[in-house]
Amino acid sequence: MNIEAILAGKPVEGLPGGHFIAGKFTPSAGGVTMESFDAGRGAAFATFAAGTAEDIDRAVTSARQAFQTVWRDTAPAERGRILTRAAQMIRADAERIAIVESIDSGKPLNEARGDVNGAARAFEYYAGACDKLQGDTFPLPRNYLGYSVYEPVGVSAQIIPWNFPISTAARGIAPALAAGCTVVAKPAETTPFSALLLAELLSKAGLPDGVCNVVTGTGREAGAPLVAHPGIDQITFTGSVTTGQAVMRSAADHVTRLVLELGGKSPVVVLDDCDRESALTGVLGAIYEHAGQICSAGSRLVIERGIHDTFVEQLSNRARQLSMGHGLRDPKLGPVNSAEHLAKIGGFIDRARDRGAEIVTGGAAATDPETGLGWFYEPTIVGNRPPDDELVREEVFGPVLTVQIADDPEHALAMAADCQYGLVAGIYTSNISNALRMARDIDAGQIFINEYFAGGIEVPFGGNKLSGFGREKGIEGLKSYCKLKSVVARVD
Ligand code: NAD
Repeated sequence: MNIEAILAGKPVEGLPGGHFIAGKFTPSAGGVTMESFDAGRGAAFATFAAGTAEDIDRAVTSARQAFQTVWRDTAPAERGRILTRAAQMIRADAERIAIVESIDSGKPLNEARGDVNGAARAFEYYAGACDKLQGDTFPLPRNYLGYSVYEPVGVSAQIIPWNFPISTAARGIAPALAAGCTVVAKPAETTPFSALLLAELLSKAGLPDGVCNVVTGTGREAGAPLVAHPGIDQITFTGSVTTGQAVMRSAADHVTRLVLELGGKSPVVVLDDCDRESALTGVLGAIYEHAGQICSAGSRLVIERGIHDTFVEQLSNRARQLSMGHGLRDPKLGPVNSAEHLAKIGGFIDRARDRGAEIVTGGAAATDPETGLGWFYEPTIVGNRPPDDELVREEVFGPVLTVQIADDPEHALAMAADCQYGLVAGIYTSNISNALRMARDIDAGQIFINEYFAGGIEVPFGGNKLSGFGREKGIEGLKSYCKLKSVVARVD
């Protein structure tokens, strides 16, 4: 793929067309298509199939049949071999997938490369787990034999958001396949392509037809019928709280198993005794990677008063220097996902200004400096806000950092913990007791000490409170796709 040609607005070649059902690309039942947008230019760059309930039904039927006739009977070691080949093929095709991901999601090319590598790593990790998923025996009296087995739940529905399309798809699809489940995935309507590329590669890696299906389209026309379909056995939903609640209600009708990965308003606690350089680097990356459109972004800086002034000054200087531009030029800060999302971010800052907030840096929409096009928002820092402020409580999902000043570590802990979300928290300090006390007392799914976003596919990930429930990644993530069966036999 020629990046310069794409930047000049030439058609992107080799994009998949149609849904991927039963091992091949197929148009929508209704023949309708939608446009996908290049956020860096603010213009449509390709079309894709707009799925409906009819397409979902075909995909679920295909997944059900593949589950019952092929995949659950495929030996775990063979599943592992296929997933290993998939990981190798993703790596071999990484640059093409990363370019498509960058243009579709807007993210800087290097971040997209990291996501594709992470997707390959997810397949590699779960490939190795296929033949290690073992049950237990129970210590019963001598004339009983009790054991447990992990059985695949069946057909998994994967609803994927636009901020990490390939990595979210991989972290759900890889463990589902490893456990012996089949899949119907529905990527977000603003980023349809990488899930299709992934399904095609899986097929080339030897995955039998129907084991992994992808239907593109809107949440209303394709997502809702998928989560309501009686033929699915499990849902992994990653997205907003409001949609997650709707999915939860829909799942109740068939008592469908559910993993909900929702939003966050994660604190990064920086204490006076931190290593200044790693804290500055960490806080900057926590909020400006992918322009803050990360569920686990560190969007609240909870900082001790003693270092507040100099730290925030250094941080704003660095934020101002971040290069901005089209994702394919690999800047530090790419565009935000859509014009609507840009307006939403702007609304948060306008309201904060009306409340008298100090905008330390940023605070305005922007465009690609090279072309004057696209949907960008300046890296923004908002000065000290009270605990009940909208910017302390609500997820912006953009490059906006809100500062909260703490009098001492105890006060910092109280402010960090005061949150309706519970996804992640970061802590920068050289005092191990303070770090571990905060790790213990903050109600969040994961805690990062002295390096934000530390860890990988090995580490379980998920939320508490409004951030959802259930865990992905790690061996825990594999168990989301299993049902545990206990068997007890009387042996006389
Ligand atoms: P969204 O809820 O609008 O959409 C997410 C997905 O749900 C899309 O594929 C969409 O088409 C689909 N959808 C919409 N309505 C649906 C319905 N009624 N039934 C079924 N599916 C439906 O979220 P978004 O704006 O795309 O993503 C941003 C949100 O996702 C943020 O809140 C972010 O924090 C969250 N997120 C969470 C994680 C995590 O792992 N916890 C990761 C990424 C994003």
